Amino acid sequence: MNHSNSNYTATSTESFSDLHNSSINSPNDFWAKQAERIYWHKKPEQILDDSKLPFAKWFVGGKTNLCYNCVDRHLETRAEQDAFVWVSSEINQELLDNHPGVAEAFKALDNHVEFYTDYAKRRLTYNRLYKEVNYLADVLQRLGVGKGDRVVIYMPMILEAAYAMLACARIGAIHSVVFGGFAAHNLAVRIDDSEAKMVITVDAGLRGGKIINYKNLVNQGVEQAKHKPEKVLVVDRGILPFEPQERDIDFATERRISCDNRAVVEPVWLESNEPSYLLYTSGTTGTPKGVQRDTGGYAVALATTMDYIYDGNPGETFWAISDIGWAVGHSYTIYAPLLTGLTSIMYEGLPHNPNPGIWWRIVEANKVNILFTAPTGVRMLKKQDETWLTRYDTSSVKSFFLAGEPLDEPTGEWLSGHLGVPIIDHYWQTETGWPILSHVPKFNYKEHRPGTPGYPMYGYDAKVLHEETGEPCQPGEKGLLAIAAPLPPGCLTTVWRNDERFIKSYYNLFDGKQYSSSDYAMIDEDGYYHILGRTDDVINVAGHRLGTQEIEAAISEHPEVAEVGVVGIKDELKGELPIAFCILRDPSIIEDTEGRFRVEQQIIGVVAKSLGALARPAAIYFPKALPKTRSGKILRRAIRALAEGKDTGDMSTLEDPTAIDAVKAALDSY
Ligand code: ATP
Ligand code: MG
Repeated sequence: MNHSNSNYTATSTESFSDLHNSSINSPNDFWAKQAERIYWHKKPEQILDDSKLPFAKWFVGGKTNLCYNCVDRHLETRAEQDAFVWVSSEINQELLDNHPGVAEAFKALDNHVEFYTDYAKRRLTYNRLYKEVNYLADVLQRLGVGKGDRVVIYMPMILEAAYAMLACARIGAIHSVVFGGFAAHNLAVRIDDSEAKMVITVDAGLRGGKIINYKNLVNQGVEQAKHKPEKVLVVDRGILPFEPQERDIDFATERRISCDNRAVVEPVWLESNEPSYLLYTSGTTGTPKGVQRDTGGYAVALATTMDYIYDGNPGETFWAISDIGWAVGHSYTIYAPLLTGLTSIMYEGLPHNPNPGIWWRIVEANKVNILFTAPTGVRMLKKQDETWLTRYDTSSVKSFFLAGEPLDEPTGEWLSGHLGVPIIDHYWQTETGWPILSHVPKFNYKEHRPGTPGYPMYGYDAKVLHEETGEPCQPGEKGLLAIAAPLPPGCLTTVWRNDERFIKSYYNLFDGKQYSSSDYAMIDEDGYYHILGRTDDVINVAGHRLGTQEIEAAISEHPEVAEVGVVGIKDELKGELPIAFCILRDPSIIEDTEGRFRVEQQIIGVVAKSLGALARPAAIYFPKALPKTRSGKILRRAIRALAEGKDTGDMSTLEDPTAIDAVKAALDSY
């Protein structure tokens, strides 16, 4: 299979290496130029203030507004262009029949939805988005929310969630979107940490036809929180009746007042470094950290990525298949496409509902140009009949980006084979808000190479440093991925109200001036970077340090393996031993002992061949599911605890609680 960029012609005449060099050597010039991509109410007085590293300030003294840049700025040229196309495979005829309140609720919000048998759709122009955002901003102001106040948004993938984020940005309130799948406890922790003045929520969400009682979860969350929000603004979707509480405010009623008044709210101009939002990390390795994002730097950074990295042009359609509760959803479902004047697809639904063709059907119907998701969703589709992909016209797609966890080559190949476009693995973190490593198909630069997330993006002075000495590693040598301070614009400015945790979590290695990613990496002979796993996921076998991710990568080369998680367990003789948990494409293979033995031997064989005998898993289990975080990452710490018969600890970010039992059952059956 050919992964090269032959079908992707570089459109830039600039040299990417010149760009990167200038971003590192002359950051002031480089970013001053990029800053012209956005509207400044007042121009910055200073581009970079690096006098208090690792705390950096970008575009000091400049005043701007994220919402103005995302919405108002486009009214002159693209008022009638779609800003969003919302598709819900959860709102289908069956739901409408069983819940007549749903259609009523859309009407009450002047929400002109097109209903089909198995999905619903709403197109929203920039003009209409402008109006809705102003109404909601007006509602917030009337309810006493102002600049600097924190607003927790706990909502499913509906347009009102986008309005809420943008409305907060408009009035200078700091939003903190909490992933809708989180339980009351997670919500309480985030309400307390952010001391939210308001929570915005819905009566209910839907997941594969199952109704999720958001309102009840909010009631419990508020109950459990020490800090009590003054108001809970409820978008009633007409799905689940609820008993209003004292602090509840009905959104439709308030919106009607603003709408009747044709409310227009002046954007509040924020100094570039004033916070736009808080977002808690995924919690894969421990307690989530409240990442604090600035305003001007974030807008400039995202607008720049849309051009240089994603090659998204005004009028094109971008679909980041992610929940708005994650960093990808913030940056690439909401802010970046709007900043550049694209159309963004917002999807409420699962990848395989009503069937595994839904993504491609949406791509065909909306002529999506650029896709972005996490490998986990693609792996899920890879397990299905592939004709689901081939029956739709996906020729509008020019590139497909993946991030969030390692992309195994077979998955990338499967996807690129069917779509015929480059599948671009790129690497970033909640903390950075945009890619650290990527390929840049727009430029005539290094050839796209599958199996690596590319090379450092402009603004990132990313190196691989020797774990003990802090010296740069040689090509092929494994070390820690570190970025020299200052991080470029758009990255976290601190941990919310916790500068100490910011330093301790990210800058306590080496000379205090290197941002540590907590990921191992290696740069190959040709300058491509490879991510070798998290520093938390290293095991020590007889004095040899092995990354569980390297073993996983080897195992996923086995054609029968759909997904795999490797952890280390204590061993008296060798210190630690790797054990593997594999999900097979066809689980019936291991129903008889002979089949199981064959697959086990083959798996052990592929590991021994690529990593040596020491890395061979001491045992291989075949659970029905693997525990994952809500963002689709394998929770190795949970698997390890189960294998060692210990308590799994904080499981609040777990996606599917039955996966714990699945792992237990697999362990017991051995
Ligand atoms: P927490 O920091 O709370 O433990 P998390 O690190 O999973 O959670 P995120 O910010 O969502 O939270 O994820 C970033 C991490 O995901 C990276 O540090 C890296 O470990 C992994 N990652 C992201 N993209 C890639 C990629 N392309 N290849 C390999 N790993 C990736
Ligand atoms: Mg992390």
